[in-house]
Amino acid sequence: ERRRRSMDAHLRARLKDKKRIVIKIGSSSLQHPETGDLDYIRMEVLVRELCDLRNQGKDVVLVSSGAIAAGRKAVHIKDINREHGERHIAVKQACAAIGQARLMMTYQKLFAEYNQVTAQILMTKNTIVDNLNRYNAHNTFTELLRMGVIPIVNENDTIATYEIEIGDNDTLSAVVAALIDADLLILLSDIDGLYTDDPRKNDRAQFIHTVEHIDEKLMEMGKKSTGSNVGTGGMNTKLVAARIATGIGADMVIAGSEDIRIIHRIMDGRNLGTFFCADKNERFDLIDFIEHYND
Ligand code: GLU
Repeated sequence: ERRRRSMDAHLRARLKDKKRIVIKIGSSSLQHPETGDLDYIRMEVLVRELCDLRNQGKDVVLVSSGAIAAGRKAVHIKDINREHGERHIAVKQACAAIGQARLMMTYQKLFAEYNQVTAQILMTKNTIVDNLNRYNAHNTFTELLRMGVIPIVNENDTIATYEIEIGDNDTLSAVVAALIDADLLILLSDIDGLYTDDPRKNDRAQFIHTVEHIDEKLMEMGKKSTGSNVGTGGMNTKLVAARIATGIGADMVIAGSEDIRIIHRIMDGRNLGTFFCADKNERFDLIDFIEHYND
C-alpha cells in the first residue's frame, strides 16, 4: 500500500510538466439539473481554469458538449424522442444548430473577460477517416495553438448521423488528443473516476486510483449505462477514450466535475480522479480504430 502510494505520487508529479492538454466537459456538468439551463458559475470557473493554464504557456483545447441540450432548452422541447417521433433526428440536428451557437456565445463572453481568443471546431468521423480532412484539421489546430487560441470542439451534430458520427464526446476528445499529439487528456464527468462496479448500484464498488494497463477485464467493467439523461457518455466510452489516449502516448485523468477547480489541483499532481498511464502502442492505428470501434 505504501509502495503503491509512492508510485502514484511519482506518476502524478509528471502532470506538472504537461504541455498540450485536452479537457472534455459533458452536458450534465454544464447545466443545472433542476432546469436544464446553463450553469454560468461553473462555466465561468471552467473558463478561468483554462485561461490560467494558457497563462502558464500550455496549449489548451476544450471539448464541450451541451449543444443539443442548450438548443432543446431554447425551443422548449423536453423530450425530443417522445415529442417528435419520426422527425426526431432532424429535430435533434436543428437543436444542435441552435444550441451550438448559444453555447459558443456564452463561452466567448466568458473567455473575453480574460482576453482569451477562442475558435470553434466541429468534427465528424470523416474529419479523421478522410485523409485530406484530417490533414486540414491537423493544420488548423496546430496553427490555432501556435496563435495562443483555445479551440472549442464539439461533434458536428447538425450534419452527423449514425454513419459519420463519432457518437460521443469522450471518444471525440481522445481523437482530438491523438490528432494534435496532446500529452494529457482530462475528462470531467458527473462521476469522480473509475470504480470496480457502478457505485450507484453497488455500495461495495471500489475506487481505482491508477490504471497502468487497460486490458479486456477492465473494458468489461465499463458499464454501458450513464447516470444522467443528457449527454451520451457512460464509463464504457471513457474507457474507449482511455484506450485511444494512452495508446497514442498521452496520460489521461477521469475526474468529477462537481468542483471545476479540480483542474488545477490535478495539474498540481494531487491524487484526484482516476489516472490512466500513457502506454504507447506503436501499432495503434487511430483511423482503423475509429472505423471499427462500434462495429
Ligand atoms: N455532441 C453532443 C452535444 O453537444 C453531446 C455528445 C456527448 O455528450 O457525448 O450536445
